[in-house]
Amino acid sequence: MFRGGLSFFGTYSSGGIVLRQSKAFSLRRSAKMRYDGTMSESNPAKSDDHAVRRGFVYCLVVATLTAITLRLMGRIWWCECGRLDLASWDIWTSHNSQHLIDPYTFSHVLHGVIFYWLLMLIPDRYVGHRRFLIAMTIEACWELLENSPIIIDRYRSVTISLDYYGDSIANSFSDIVACGLGYWFARSFRWTWSVVFFVIVEVLMLITIRDSLGLNILMLLTPIDAVREWQSG
Ligand SMILES: [Zn+2]
Repeated sequence: MFRGGLSFFGTYSSGGIVLRQSKAFSLRRSAKMRYDGTMSESNPAKSDDHAVRRGFVYCLVVATLTAITLRLMGRIWWCECGRLDLASWDIWTSHNSQHLIDPYTFSHVLHGVIFYWLLMLIPDRYVGHRRFLIAMTIEACWELLENSPIIIDRYRSVTISLDYYGDSIANSFSDIVACGLGYWFARSFRWTWSVVFFVIVEVLMLITIRDSLGLNILMLLTPIDAVREWQSG
């Protein structure tokens, strides 16, 4: 189930020339292992650990830079209620998207899953090990866009988010980290688990809050009155 030995940012090139080069290289490296007894260069699990740590740092750096930008855009750090509750599960209150975690956090986890598979469609020679950074950057741009007046107004006019005035900075920060977790999940397990996870999250969100990532995108692009009535009912 777990695919060890891959870079956190994606698989390496499998082009013929590269494979021949890396075969010679790995022969040299395994020879080195026998003589000095270390596994530092050749141990895939260990280099994977480094890649995961680097990915985690990337994620935090991108989230922090986005938080600073959002502050410069005038966003508030935390919910105006001032309560330190980490989570807010009722999307019909003014606390929604203002605390650290809410039902939409799971939509952002799905962003990461989608980004991973979409970026895997791009050949290595174009993106190489930069896939994770690209995914994080797209998510950060989305958070900035989501909190811009044009999208906030769009949400309020065509979706059920009538009281939406933008996320708090803490919420945007956790959304980006959630996206990173989704990417990690998709990268770590077989594609079937991504599909299962995606369907479970969508169905649970539809049951519990009558909204989901798919429905959110649909309503943002082509609002349907009947759907909005069902969501508001
Ligand atoms: Zn609150």
